[in-house]
Amino acid sequence: MSKDSDSVCRQCRVEKTKLFLKGNKCLSEKCPVERRGYAPGQHGRARKRILGYGLQLREKQKLKRYYGMTERQFRLFFKRADQQKGVTGENLLTMLERRLDNVVFITGFARSRHHGRQLIGHGHFMVNQRKVTVPSFIVKEGDEVRFRPRSAQTENVKQVIGQNRNKTVPGWITVDWEGMSVKIAALPTRQDVTFPVEEHYIVELYSK
Ligand code: SF4
Repeated sequence: MSKDSDSVCRQCRVEKTKLFLKGNKCLSEKCPVERRGYAPGQHGRARKRILGYGLQLREKQKLKRYYGMTERQFRLFFKRADQQKGVTGENLLTMLERRLDNVVFITGFARSRHHGRQLIGHGHFMVNQRKVTVPSFIVKEGDEVRFRPRSAQTENVKQVIGQNRNKTVPGWITVDWEGMSVKIAALPTRQDVTFPVEEHYIVELYSK
């Protein structure tokens, strides 16, 4: 994925949805989706009705980009979701929400999922007192995620925490801002996934 700002925001414009890939910019008036809520390119404003395969593909791309995953990683998650009991689409969404990079982002410990992945990759987080460097690590009920003591003292981390301290977090996680840790109080349900996606299209796409 390109790190160039324009191309990152272009992904949101293609999906006509805010994917929250750029941290604070996503919440500001500078967000290109707020200013130009139509697809990029010469024919971006044209009304196109997408049906069938096109619709299935767009829903998959949208979700994959939201969580910042490659096609291979996303397919792997789908396969795991399909092997679990229950509704595959819901399994997929709730498993994606439990990714460690997502948890540190929605908590407010990182500016974006991409930033979360960087922090995790550089070894700044522990899960149940053990260092975890895999952004796709899936948290489970009762897990405790926290900054490593030295990491919590860095200016970069202090700045992010200062900006996000009042962030509203979903009910399935509880944050201890003083201890710079988060507890997985319960597993997320479909209702906890607020991103607008119709997951049954993704199931249809991969079930062909
Ligand atoms: Fe760019 Fe964020 Fe707006 Fe998407 S939501 S267009 S990443 S600023």
